[in-house]
Amino acid sequence: MPADDPINFLLVDDLEENLLALEALLQREGLACLKARSGEEALELLLVHDIALALLDVQMPGMDGFQLAEFMRGAERSRHIPIIFLTAGVATLQRRFRGYEAGAVDFIQKPIEGDILKSKANVFFDLHKQHRQILAQRDELAAYADALKTVDRHKNEFLAVLGHELRNPVMALGAGLYFLKKHDDPEKALEIRAQMDRQVSHLTRLVEDLLDISRIDQGKIALRKERVALQATLELAIEASRPQIDANRHTLTSDITADPVWLDADPTRVAQVVSNLLNNAAKYTPPGGQIRLAAQVVDGFVHIEVTDNGIGIPDEMQSKIFELFAQVKNSATRAQEGLGIGLALVKQLVELHGGSISLQSSGPDLGSSFQVRLPVIP
Ligand code: ADP
Repeated sequence: MPADDPINFLLVDDLEENLLALEALLQREGLACLKARSGEEALELLLVHDIALALLDVQMPGMDGFQLAEFMRGAERSRHIPIIFLTAGVATLQRRFRGYEAGAVDFIQKPIEGDILKSKANVFFDLHKQHRQILAQRDELAAYADALKTVDRHKNEFLAVLGHELRNPVMALGAGLYFLKKHDDPEKALEIRAQMDRQVSHLTRLVEDLLDISRIDQGKIALRKERVALQATLELAIEASRPQIDANRHTLTSDITADPVWLDADPTRVAQVVSNLLNNAAKYTPPGGQIRLAAQVVDGFVHIEVTDNGIGIPDEMQSKIFELFAQVKNSATRAQEGLGIGLALVKQLVELHGGSISLQSSGPDLGSSFQVRLPVIP
């Protein structure tokens, strides 16, 4: 129940004029008055409303106030509703009611003294309000706890993936060192050193990506913006991704506008963005695939597109792909290395440049096409 919903109180009296007088006495902002002219009518209202206080006239034809109170105490929903009995003042009558243990009970003698009834009722309204606030805070805390659990689970999953990602190159480096120590074969040693070089580059890239993510998170990434030629930046990106593309025997075609295009950008970062997309295209496309890099200027923005004919991204993952640690969980992609931070980083770098990125199209085995849009210098 929202904490600012009105607080209901129930008046039960067979005489209309008493109901109106009590309502006029107690009504104030934030309260809603429910009126019943009989015990039966009151029970119906109790079934559907959350009630902070019930004021019951004791002497009513048919079901009297005490009988109504016994019914209320018997039902789970209304057991704990505080009751104020309005009695004609015969003290012995009070002993007829049992059921004090379930909830507060009070007696007010008729003729009613307005101020006394008002202050007693206000105590119950305030208690009810506090109770509601406590419930709302409890729900809020439960939601926080759930969110924290989810974050904690993601963090643990991430640590597991990170451990796995770090173990492979570290083991390869260890094996390389062992070989170099044990054997004296210069030709083989050259090959081993080249492999170790690749592993070190891989480790360096992982660590740099991790540091970038935390730098962006803390708002500490500084772009070294300058006037740069688009074509030169794309060349840098292709050069960085060439080993991945060649290792998988993919064919890279490019369709980049021949007109001079200038960006106010950090060339290393823009190359990092495009190279990340090219590496993903190479990683998630079976050997011998087709990768295409295209760039055209449209309405003051250069549209850079990286398209592959690889395994594609399932529909349900497409909206999440730019979130940190998002990875498609299936055996074909899990066999690939990666931490699920590349696209999150790419998106943030593009946005730091005043641009945007989207997945243009993708589907299982239909390949993927990513588009980066960056503002150009007119
Ligand atoms: P990762 O390090 O796992 O590659 P990314 O953030 O770069 O992390 O990519 C997130 C996920 O998006 C990948 O794990 C992969 O499932 C999917 N993905 C990214 N690019 C492609 C692509 N070109 N084709 C198919 N799936 C892709």
